[in-house]
This record gives sequence, C-alpha cells and structure tokens, in this order.
Amino acid sequence: MNDRKKQTLKTYFGFDAFRPGQEEIIDHILAGRDVLAVMPTGAGKSLCYQLPALLMPGITVVVSPLISLMMDQVKALNEAGVHAAYINSSLTENQMAKALELAKTGQYRIIYVAPERLETPRFLDFACHAELSMVTVDEAHCISQWGQDFRPSYVRILDFIRQLPVRPVVSAFTATATERVREDILTSLSLEKPYETVTGFDRENLYFEVKRTREKKLRVRKYLEDHREESGIIYCATRKNVDELYLYLENEGFSVGRYHAGMGAEARKVSQEDFIYDRIKVMIATNAFGMGIDKSDVRYVLHYNMPQSMENYYQEAGRAGRDGEPAECILYYSPQDTVINRLLLESKEHSREYTEEETERIQAQDMERLRRMEAYCLTSKCLRSCILEYFGESSIEKCGNCSNCLEEFEEVDVSEAAADVVRCVGVSGQRFGSAMIAGILLGENTAKIRNYRLEQSPVYGRQSSMGQAMLREVIRTMTERGYLWQTPDRYAVLKLTDLSEELLEPGASFVISCKKKEDRPSAAGKRKSAQLQDLTERGKELFEELRKLRAALAGKRKVPPYVVASDRTLREMCIRIPLTKEEMLEVHGMGQKKLEQYGEPFLEKIQTVTKGDRASWGAVPRAEADDTLSGKDFSGGFPEDGKASPLTDGKSRGRKAEFCLTEEIRSGIRYVPEISLSEFAAQINDLRDASAMKRLTVKWLTEKLTEQGCFQVQIQNGYARTVLTDRGANAGFRAERRISAKGHPYEVFFCTEAGQRFLVEMMEQIL
Ligand code: ADP
Ligand code: MG
Repeated sequence: MNDRKKQTLKTYFGFDAFRPGQEEIIDHILAGRDVLAVMPTGAGKSLCYQLPALLMPGITVVVSPLISLMMDQVKALNEAGVHAAYINSSLTENQMAKALELAKTGQYRIIYVAPERLETPRFLDFACHAELSMVTVDEAHCISQWGQDFRPSYVRILDFIRQLPVRPVVSAFTATATERVREDILTSLSLEKPYETVTGFDRENLYFEVKRTREKKLRVRKYLEDHREESGIIYCATRKNVDELYLYLENEGFSVGRYHAGMGAEARKVSQEDFIYDRIKVMIATNAFGMGIDKSDVRYVLHYNMPQSMENYYQEAGRAGRDGEPAECILYYSPQDTVINRLLLESKEHSREYTEEETERIQAQDMERLRRMEAYCLTSKCLRSCILEYFGESSIEKCGNCSNCLEEFEEVDVSEAAADVVRCVGVSGQRFGSAMIAGILLGENTAKIRNYRLEQSPVYGRQSSMGQAMLREVIRTMTERGYLWQTPDRYAVLKLTDLSEELLEPGASFVISCKKKEDRPSAAGKRKSAQLQDLTERGKELFEELRKLRAALAGKRKVPPYVVASDRTLREMCIRIPLTKEEMLEVHGMGQKKLEQYGEPFLEKIQTVTKGDRASWGAVPRAEADDTLSGKDFSGGFPEDGKASPLTDGKSRGRKAEFCLTEEIRSGIRYVPEISLSEFAAQINDLRDASAMKRLTVKWLTEKLTEQGCFQVQIQNGYARTVLTDRGANAGFRAERRISAKGHPYEVFFCTEAGQRFLVEMMEQIL
C-alpha cells in the first residue's frame, strides 16, 4: 500500500513526499475510518481526499461550497489524468443528466457537488445506485452557525448520507481551528469515531512583516515596483480604499484588478478570472475576495489596512505561497487602522436573533480580537510566534523569517519612564488612556489636561525629553508585559496591576527593545524575488522562456498557468536542465501524466535554449540542494561564475563590516578533536562582535576549500554535490554522506583539529 500511495502521489500529483499530516489522514481514510482534519489554508487538504479517492474502489463525492472552486479543482484533476466531474447550477439540466449518466458507468473517480444538489431526486438516484466509497465535506466549517461562512444547505449533508444504502467513509476538512466549530462539524455530520487531527499552523515558507507607516500608498507602490513579475493580492479594509488604491496603481502603470462586494457579479467574475489566468498581476480587494481562490503562485499578500482579527489576517495572508515557495505577507499599519476598525465594529449590525446580553458578549469578543490584532502590529517579538501562540500553538522564540527577527533592535533602559508611568496612572486616578498619560508626562498643554488640573500633578512634564512615540512604546510594552492593564472597551483606560508597584522599587529595571531608527529598506525588499535568486542570469532567461511556454500551453488548454506547472517546477527545470523524460520526471511537480501532456514541449524548449549545455546553463545549488529548493533558504546557491560570493548570508544587514579574523577572534578559538564545518563557523561567529561585523558563512568556507583543492564540485543529475578530495582528507577533513528527505545524497563535512588549524591559516591568508 505504501508503494501504491507514493506511486500515485508521484504519478498523478507529481510530488515526491507528503506534507505534514497528509499521510496519516490518507491512511485512516484507506482503513475505512471517518476523518476530521483541520489544516491551515495552503497546507494541502485536497490531496488528502483526492489521493485515497484514487485508491479506493468506488466513487468519492466531494461537497464543496463554491462553484468556482469546484471548477478549478476538477480542471486541475483532469489535467493530472484523474477523471473527475462537477455537478452544480452552472450546468444545464441536460448536462447534469449526462454527467450523472457517465458517473453511473464508473467514468469518474471523483465527483464534486454543490450541497444544495445532494438531495435532488436525480442525484440521490445516482448516489443510491453507485458504489460510493467516500463522502468528503470540504470547507466543513460552513456547517457551523458559529463560523463566518455558515451555509444552511451544509446542514442537510447528513440527511443525504443517511439516505445512502451503505454508509461510506465520511471525511471533513477545514482551516478553522476553533473548538466550537470543530464540535459543530463532528455532531452535524455525525462522524463515527473519527480520526481527528489539527495540523500545525505554521507556514514556514511565509515571511511576515509589519510596517508601521503613514505613507502606505508610496510603500505599496515601491513594493510593486520591486515585484513586477509576481502575482500578489492587496487587501484593503473598505471598498473606498480598494477603488482609490486601484485607480492610483493603475495610473502608475501597474497590472492591477479589483474586487469588492460593491461591484456587479459579472465584473467580479471577470476580475477574478483575470487574476487566476495571470492576465493581471495584482488584485486589490476587500475580504470579499478569497474563499475559493486556489491560485497557488500568489507570491505576496499585502494588507493596506489592519484586519479586524488574527483569524482574518492569517486566512488572507495564508493565500500567499500555497505552492510552498517563499512568499511574503506584509501588513502596513497606522494607528488610524485601529480607530477605523473600532468604528466599524461598533456600527456593525448584529442579528436580531441574539439577546442583548449575547450581542454584548459578541461585541466584547470582537473588541478583544481587534486588540490582539493590534498587539501583533505593535509587538517587537517574533511575528510568527505571535501568530502561532494566538492559535494555541507553542513555538520557537525566534523564527528568523519575519521582520522582527530580521530587523535590528536595540535595547533601551527606560526604567525611569516606566516608574513615572506607574506614578502618573496612579495619581491621575486610573481613569485615562495611554494618549492622556503620555500627554501628562510629556508636559503637553492641552485643554483636557488643564480641565483635570493635571498640569499641577507632580509627574507633569517629567518625561518631556522623551519622544512621544517612545513614551507610547514604553506604555504599550508595560501593558504587553502585564505591568498595566487596559480595559477592553472603547475607552481603553489604563489600570494598575499587581505587578505595577515592582517598577517603583529602588533598582527596578525596565528595558524595552526598539527598532533602530534609520529608515532602511524593508527586510522584504532585500529578499526581492527570493525565489529567483538561486537562478543564474542565464537561468532567469530560461525561466522567462519557460514561463512564456507555460502561458501558451495554458491558453491552449484553457486552464490557469499554475495548473500546467508551478513556478517551482519551472525553476527546478532551470536548475536541473532536464534533457530526457527520465530527468524531467525528477523535477518537482512533474508526474507521469503531466509528463505525457507537457513533457515534450518543455524538453524541446529547454533543448533549444540551452543546446543541452547543462554545465553553463544550470544553476548550481549547494550540496543540500533539497533544502534550498524546499523554500527555506535561498541564500545558498552558488552563483555559476563562483565570484559573487560575499561572506554574508541573506540575513545580514547592510552596514556592518565584512567578516575578518581579528586577533581577538583567533585567540578565542578552541580546537577540539572533531567538529562539523558549520559548528566551527558558528563558534567563530560567536567570538565576533555581532553588531559590527558580518558573519563568516559555511558557504564561503566551502568555496575557499574548493579553491584550495580540498573539496570538489561534481554535477550529478543536474545537481552540484560538493565532495571531499584526497587533498582535503589529508588536510584533516572528513565527509559523511547523508540522504536528504527527498532521497538525494549530500555531504556533511567535519574538521579534525588539523582541519580546524588549516581553516584558520587559510583565513589568515585570505582575509
Ligand atoms: P488547502 O485546501 O489546504 O488550502 P490545497 O489543497 O489547495 O490547500 O493545496 C495547496 C497547494 O499545495 C496546492 O498547490 C497543492 O498542489 C500543493 N500540495 C499539496 N500537497 C503537496 C505535497 N505533498 N507536496 C507538494 N505540494 C503539495
Ligand atoms: Mg482547499
């Protein structure tokens, strides 16, 4: 079975490995067990029911809420060689009858159906006479009245299942993680001892950034200028913002479209299709745009305004990078966003079905969600950990792939100011919000302060030398750490807590970390087109050619380009330069069926462009090519000419000095019997002044050792592998072969004491 699973995965879907959670779900389904799977957007839920559908004897019926979503999935399945069909209101009665006729004869393995079609006599007749192996409920949260997307017709799914002569396996999938919604799904579908799983919410390939700025238009324009070739979505809070931004960007010559509920159904449809078929690059939209957008190569999601909750944010941001490739999620925040969202929430109409008490509770909940969202925009902690904690997952402290982890922070001792804040909140009677408290401490001369005679307070003007922004930051951090408490209502009054007094004790210390002042380009800007960075100049040329070919093939078959091949697939072609069908099959995303359909035109194009000269066209990723390609880190590919290889890695900041082996570092090195090359580099990096000097990288060491003849680069299957030479072994290096998750061999290098001394000497000579 294992083999069949893997084989099906490769043949029909073109993937070499399962993503986290997928295999377990598939196994349980195949064992005949019901399943309830909660997986974040983009995690790959479809595969979890599509793959078993191919391995089980009968037909799988997939209930799905949106017509566009169904059509896309069915198209993609047929492209992959899986016979599938859909039944929904877009078909005429005749077409529907015909589809069901064919279904009866066993033409299709998978049939997508809209919930309201399930109980039509025609569909029931078919379902009762066909062999159904599974009923899958996609977007299963639509069954819950507590979710945002409640669909009454979903509630009737259970009636349908009960009318079947034999109960098939029932599986349900959603990205909504709350306990309540999960409960609703379990009971409303009456799942029988289901295998329940919640897959990790982390999306490693997504880079998160918050930009506090009032110049949003300008920032967004700059971002688009740097990412012209990529598809992206920009979410705005209101229709008005969408229209404004759309006109502005269109005027600036960008390829943009828009989408919001104020537009007619037809206009929305056209706009959505333009985006999916790559006729426009950027979609500017309200949150009405989203569910059912399966476009997998969205490279960035920008938020022009802060959304109202983390749930909304993560779902929208999660539409970036569904193909697993690096993608960026940037939120542009200004305090105005909080004000507007508060107003929106306050004026939100609540259903009359709720009692006053219930309405109040919902309102309070909304405000609390907004507060947490705001906290995300203001925090200096790792953004990813902030998100994961919100969804109840513990995580590492620093992810290294968000603006807060990459940004440089400085520690500032603000003990005095913090103590004054406590005093000020106390003497003013714990009845004001942070703007007022800051105003008093800054010594502002406002009517409100005078009204309350607070200019006579002993703390008035005590922190006048501190900037307003900084003081607000102190107050915010105090709240975040529990030294103050902010009432959750609209007045957001600051109150003292049990901890507050600690700050008044002699010797109490309060240190906050602040972003360094200079206005540097965003961390994201530095990662510009990360996914193309590992291509050589020639590789990029080839990529463009392949992209054109993909567009042409997609046009011919009337499918979106990403259904033909993902960016990652094209990029791998540019790196590996496959010249035969066998080599083409090695490329991520190229299964047997895809190969049959598109293999030849791609092979031909690669042959014509490169003339089969793999050595000078293919980029040469470093030995751990699999990691490089899995999207974690694109800083590692050796440029083909081997020159442009500074000592820095992608994450170092601009203004530091290049690494050099100072006397201080040299004398600090401790030689050990054996250590891996990367640990040795790490040891040296620990000895340097990290704030002033860039890192020594393993990449650089590897290159220099190659120049010295200790290592050698060999090309195998289009991958460069660095291997040890005799000279290297004599100099005190040892290689251990490892096999990557993808089954590719690579080497890990170790240095004996002699090797370590060799390295130091080498550095002394070069640096
Ligand atoms: P979800 O429904 O969970 O939001 P999808 O099923 O639309 O996600 O899958 C998102 C993307 O992930 C798709 O482009 C799909 O091809 C890809 N994908 C799914 N499983 C794998 C896998 N095992 N390896 C690589 N890519 C995968
Ligand atoms: Mg899905």
